[in-house]
Amino acid sequence: MGRLRVYELARQLEMDTKELMKELADLGIEIKSHMSFIDEETVNILLEMYSKSEDEEEFDEYEELLELEEEIYDKKRISKKGEVEKEKPEKKKSLVKISEEDLKLDKFSEKIGIPQNRIIQDFFMKGEILKPGQTLNLQLAKKIAKLYDVRIGFDIEETKEEVKENPLEEIEKYFEEKYKNKENLVERPPIVTVMGHVDHGKTTLLDYIRRTRVAEREEGGITQSIGAYQVEVNGKKITFIDTPGHEVFTEMRARGAQATDIVVLVVAADDGVMPQTIEAYNHAKSANVPIIVAINKIDKPNANVELTKQELVNKLSLIPEEWGGDTIMVPISAKKGQNVDTLLEMILLVAEMQEIKAISDGPVRAVTIETRLDKGFGPVANAIVKDGKLKIGDYVVAGKVMGKVKALVNDQGKRIKEAGPSTPVMIVGFEDLPDAHSVIYSVENLDKAREITEKIKEMEQKELRRKRHLKLEEILKMMEQSEQKELRLIIKADTLGSVMALNTAIQKLQSEEVRINIIHSAVGAITTSDVMLASASDAIILGFRVKADSQSRKMAEAEGIQIKTYTIIYKLIDDLRAALEGMLEPEEVEEITGRGEIKKVFKIKKLGSVAGVQMYEGYVEKTGIARLYRNGKLIFEGKIESLKHYQQDVKRVDAPQECGIKLENFDDIREGDELEFAVIKKVNKKLTFDEGNEQKNN
Ligand code: GDP
Repeated sequence: MGRLRVYELARQLEMDTKELMKELADLGIEIKSHMSFIDEETVNILLEMYSKSEDEEEFDEYEELLELEEEIYDKKRISKKGEVEKEKPEKKKSLVKISEEDLKLDKFSEKIGIPQNRIIQDFFMKGEILKPGQTLNLQLAKKIAKLYDVRIGFDIEETKEEVKENPLEEIEKYFEEKYKNKENLVERPPIVTVMGHVDHGKTTLLDYIRRTRVAEREEGGITQSIGAYQVEVNGKKITFIDTPGHEVFTEMRARGAQATDIVVLVVAADDGVMPQTIEAYNHAKSANVPIIVAINKIDKPNANVELTKQELVNKLSLIPEEWGGDTIMVPISAKKGQNVDTLLEMILLVAEMQEIKAISDGPVRAVTIETRLDKGFGPVANAIVKDGKLKIGDYVVAGKVMGKVKALVNDQGKRIKEAGPSTPVMIVGFEDLPDAHSVIYSVENLDKAREITEKIKEMEQKELRRKRHLKLEEILKMMEQSEQKELRLIIKADTLGSVMALNTAIQKLQSEEVRINIIHSAVGAITTSDVMLASASDAIILGFRVKADSQSRKMAEAEGIQIKTYTIIYKLIDDLRAALEGMLEPEEVEEITGRGEIKKVFKIKKLGSVAGVQMYEGYVEKTGIARLYRNGKLIFEGKIESLKHYQQDVKRVDAPQECGIKLENFDDIREGDELEFAVIKKVNKKLTFDEGNEQKNN
């Protein structure tokens, strides 16, 4: 056996690549990634080590038995510990009664005795944004109370409130709970989206894979594409979303549904990294989805794979594995099919590392890719099942539209009876056309489906569920109250020069306290796609010498996204800086306010020594600091316990007046000692900049 890559060896050993990597690390064998090579000698040793003899297998069984016993013992211990804890009388938590007026965050926080800021902060860390004084619904109130372990009871009719609550959240909660227990999860095929610059070959690639991998369409089957297809590679499946580009991807994400596990970024080797390559990359990155680069068109005479890789490094910081980075890059020709198999294998490999899981039974959750009105079938939704098995006869809801599944059609145009996780499927049976990109859920029965859709309709009418994003000022305010401060920006400008200048200038505003994350910057007008990205990642859009078209303005308004446009760079920077500086913790600076000399020492019973001080310069403040010097040496530094002017307690005494001062916890004062007074002032910190202030750029 020659040298092997880690994942290849894992296959040989019938092991998980991840597992093998862990084993290797434990053995002290250094490996960068699953693509790294392992030399021949090590391969042989490992093969020997891991191919077990029968004896060893028996031994393994014995070890398993031991582990099992230990587990049981552990459980016993835990239950014992539990009992011990119970012995202490549990402090009985009293019930906090919440009335209608208390359902404002400020009032509520008072009631439960947790500071409002802390609640905002804690929720912010959990990714949920609350505003000071905002109205709470019962569900949210309960959630807050639960976090701080406070028992609350409502003086309100819950039913009245229930109407306002999104019934889908409850279903989502079910999945959330299920996902917590790994045992409920099974592996599912990865869902892949192909993205990249126009004409770089996305469609060609998707077509090639479909043509060569998807089995022949059924005779007489439906020939229309269903928006996604599934292929089989080395006995494993991959689901491809059949619409290239990031629109579907981002729109779904903006609706809270992540329908992509892996992004294939197509870059033509004769054209290199182009604006939409960068845009696509930013979309994938902000969604935290792993990227595999397909360097396409390598059959062309002017293709330059090395140069393209260099550009990927320079412009996107995507470093190929062979150069020591961790991005898989596969040179391909989508037109000729060259190396496409390797690309597919790499997708499987990345999928394996990602642990892409689903719940295989129970209620169904599916993401819609597209919907259309079919002449024969009526309203249909093309979707990919994420969890559960969708079956004919299931009742489903998709937003405010419900249906009963009458037929399921797969990517080969074949009618199927059920569709499990990651299966693309056309769903027939909706009463109306569902919203494209909505999430479809199966529910128990017709009544439940009606109830849910009615509630959602009601909610929509009241616009209670309108997605709200925050304005720059509000985001900054939130960040002020939280530890982790990050401002996310999308920057659009008129020229590449401006984009670069803005990027540099804005990056310089970054400080230790405030992170600025430019999630996307590009040349061109502000588009709906920018708004979508901003919406999905709670960012603010800054435009420099560009406009937002009316469609994106409208969308921004609906989504509550803030767009700020400027024509002068320093105005933009000033605005940002002022806002950012406003949220920095103020700095504490000491300021010397005055000096004086001890003229007389009064010993007062119970109180101690009080100094009769002649002020020479400036003033002394009761709340300030005092320093005592004797023969030029510092003897004492600390607080002032009392400050008197003619027997009267005062806040401040100015030179050349006299005063009586008692220093806190210090009595060793003598005539002739000198005193220096100071105060601590809070000053707003300024952001410091590197040399070459960006203001000169304009
Ligand atoms: P998309 O806009 O990214 O979907 O790009 P298309 O798939 O429509 O491809 C744009 C053009 O590039 C078409 O004329 C394709 O035939 C051509 N093309 C795509 N892939 C390759 C390839 O690997 N080699 C060559 N020579 N041409 C390709």
